[in-house]
Amino acid sequence: MSNIEDIATDLIDVLPNPVLVKDDETRYLWVNRAFERLFEVRRDELVGRLDSEVFPDRQVAQCNGGDLRVLATGEIDEADEVVVDPTRGDRQMITRKTRLSSSAGNHVLLGVMHDITDVTEANHRLLETSAKLEEQSALLRVMANTDGLTGCLNRRALFESAASVFAADDPVASLLVLDLDHFKTINDTLGHDAGDRVLEHFVQIARGVLRSRDLFARTGGEEFAILLPDTEPDAAVAIANRICETVRQAPTTVDGHPPIDLTVSIGVAHTINCDEPSIDGLIKLADRAMYEIKHNGRDGVGSSLAPAAISR
Ligand code: GH3
Ligand code: MG
Ligand code: MG
Repeated sequence: MSNIEDIATDLIDVLPNPVLVKDDETRYLWVNRAFERLFEVRRDELVGRLDSEVFPDRQVAQCNGGDLRVLATGEIDEADEVVVDPTRGDRQMITRKTRLSSSAGNHVLLGVMHDITDVTEANHRLLETSAKLEEQSALLRVMANTDGLTGCLNRRALFESAASVFAADDPVASLLVLDLDHFKTINDTLGHDAGDRVLEHFVQIARGVLRSRDLFARTGGEEFAILLPDTEPDAAVAIANRICETVRQAPTTVDGHPPIDLTVSIGVAHTINCDEPSIDGLIKLADRAMYEIKHNGRDGVGSSLAPAAISR
């Protein structure tokens, strides 16, 4: 039966991890089979030789400093190394090196390598995939909240965003409901595509009047709602009037058609009118004020506070 040293050597020889032993001048004394397989070298070709006599320069550069330090200090060294596998190319290794004393009283260097290339690559792929998924889900979130034609919030997103405004103890907000005047005629005379351009044009103009925290939503075909957080009725009416005037005055020309006299009717509501302020409650009030304006000839602003007092 083999003695215990032979058994230990055989055992190291069948380990999947490459193992190396070097003398105190960093010349190879022994390597196991996994090392032979990795570098496609034979053990007897290595014995007595330095890394620099066998391996590519860039591999040698990162290994030797560590070897000498371990041999000089006896400290254990654990380092990331890139080694060159002649068949598979660069391999990412973690190499742990330690100093042992030989029976002759010399120091020898024992190194054990662990190939982490596949794990590192899998991690990389996982990170890339999760970054892509994150990007796609952010895009999907935006798409789910946005009206595709105008870039406004959609109705659902308005209700969702409004929830935080109405969650306050005593919420202060105004809401505008906007409906383009005689839009069906625009569609009927110029076509649906031109109608779409008019919708985009209107949104661009109205957006120019708003502040960044105002929530601008397309709630229907040519109907919009704008929630103005922390906005008193006078300020809301002033904003509505500015939108109304700007839309009337801005030249509306689409797809080479003759200019259109675009106008909008706007209803304004404020939380002061609601016993229990909510987005639904404000929309209903503002709707009523807007229909009053439609009824009175369109192109104007009406408020649920004083419907008769405010108009063109
Ligand atoms: P009023 O002044 O009373 O509001 O009259 P109106 O013609 O604007 O109102 P009506 O509700 O009769 O017509 C709205 C039109 O909007 C009818 C519909 O075909 C059109 N519409 C709805 N959605 C879209 C859209 O996405 N694109 C286009 N181009 N037209 C749309
Ligand atoms: Mg309408
Ligand atoms: Mg309309």
